[in-house]
Amino acid sequence: MRGLQGKTAVVTGASRGIGRAIALRLAAEGCKVVVNYHRNAEAAEAVVDAIRSQKGEAIAIQADVSDAQQAQRLIKESLQAFGRVDILVNNAGTTRDTLLVMMKEADWDHVINTNLKSCYNVTRAVLRSMMKQRYGRIINITSVSGITGQAGQTNYAASKAGMIGFTKSLAKEVGSRNITVNAVAPGFIPTDLTADLPQDLKDALLKLTALGRPGTAEEVAGVVAFLASDDAAYITGQVIVVDGGLVM
Ligand code: NAP
Repeated sequence: MRGLQGKTAVVTGASRGIGRAIALRLAAEGCKVVVNYHRNAEAAEAVVDAIRSQKGEAIAIQADVSDAQQAQRLIKESLQAFGRVDILVNNAGTTRDTLLVMMKEADWDHVINTNLKSCYNVTRAVLRSMMKQRYGRIINITSVSGITGQAGQTNYAASKAGMIGFTKSLAKEVGSRNITVNAVAPGFIPTDLTADLPQDLKDALLKLTALGRPGTAEEVAGVVAFLASDDAAYITGQVIVVDGGLVM
């Protein structure tokens, strides 16, 4: 095995989409998983049930990770449940797409707080325990939008570009404590998040994708599991693009 057996992972936004696939994949490789969610308790419990049905260990914890106190509670309850946190996947994310000229302050704040401030909130809450145990794997789910920009997504692209700067800076801060910090940048993955994208934008994205098809949440999860594993022990501060050749 590649070092994931018995490790504890917290996956934010794991009730649906990519986070769900990450939780299932890490559990399949032997991790105990905290399935964080915001509003969808039923979906989160279904992920926990799916893991338990495969003889895995998981619990669901409700917390709005854009809120610092709730993020602290998420980590406190995770530590109470499993004793330690080895892997943190900052996956929770949202969009409120519109051109900047129309964008309300609330749309800006909501996306920045959910996608970027949440990384500060949850990582800050867990970091001391990772430093103490001299082990940690932090994986931030960014986006190709944060690399190339995307019209209609100034808030989203800024949050995702911010996550890349956060990833590289923190990697430099905590490398000496055997904590790696990496980012995964998916391209177009059909989930609830992308369901409302205009069809002409979806078509245009697929046209530019070398592999000629959208990706799957499972394909993103596989790369996250790799970064969490011992096989990636010497990789830190990197952004791994999982986009079928959309950005190159
Ligand atoms: P999704 O299907 O919409 O799922 C979003 C997840 O985040 C849900 O589990 C949701 O929980 C959770 N969440 C939202 N706000 C939260 C909050 N404040 N606190 C805690 N959890 C919260 O989205 P997805 O497509 O899987 O996206 C997952 C990540 O991948 C995001 O960071 C997104 O930006 C990134 N990404 C996605 C794509 C894509 O094409 N899909 C591409 C690039 C990057 P509830 O179910 O409880 O609401």
